Amino acid sequence: MYIIMLGAPGAGKGTQADIVCHEMELPHIASGDLFREALEKKTELGLLAKSYMEKGELVPNAVTIKMILERISDPDCVSGCLFDGFPRTLEQAEALDKAFAAQGKSVDKAIYIEVPDGELIKRLSGRWICRNCQTPYHLVNSPPKVPGKCDKCGGELYQRADDTEGTEKKRLKVFHNLTVPILDYYRKQSKTIEVNGNLGIQEVAKEVISALKQR
Ligand code: AMP
Repeated sequence: MYIIMLGAPGAGKGTQADIVCHEMELPHIASGDLFREALEKKTELGLLAKSYMEKGELVPNAVTIKMILERISDPDCVSGCLFDGFPRTLEQAEALDKAFAAQGKSVDKAIYIEVPDGELIKRLSGRWICRNCQTPYHLVNSPPKVPGKCDKCGGELYQRADDTEGTEKKRLKVFHNLTVPILDYYRKQSKTIEVNGNLGIQEVAKEVISALKQR
């Protein structure tokens, strides 16, 4: 099963993706994590992505599509995976469909987690992430048990450089202009599952998983 997780920055895509991947035993392909890993390793891809990520802009389609298509050619994705943060433009969605069609595969479902912009800004400004396992925390809504340390692996928590107020607003604008049109693309194919992301983490997860299992 190939699933796409759509939502604005801060909508909870990563958290829901983790839960769904665990429940359905799927590899979790997060484009933002792949760019951050490349940046940590200081590869050419990482350094290129950095300049866009810092400004809250999208990394060019050609670079992003190449990275994702390479990743999904790994054996763990042969019968399914969950995409988190990809596609983010119509061009990326079409490139994925084209690559899948050539292999007789297709996207099964696109989950859209909807959260109002005001709430997204609050979530992003309080967000801290584990440097080791990427688990997200929120200083008010879901703080770690020990300040600065991940509950799951004890890793150090950090605030993403692009979770700052100016960049957050830019990222939301990019989302509305470039990513929201993808929703219609998947709606026309009757593939969307639209969920209210303003509920608690477990409630959202329950809705997503039951919709996926009903398909
Ligand atoms: P994320 O962790 O998904 O919020 O992504 C962080 C940043 O990585 C984004 O603001 C973009 O600069 C870049 N990025 C992640 N996924 C994509 C994508 N599918 N297309 C272009 N840029 C992306």
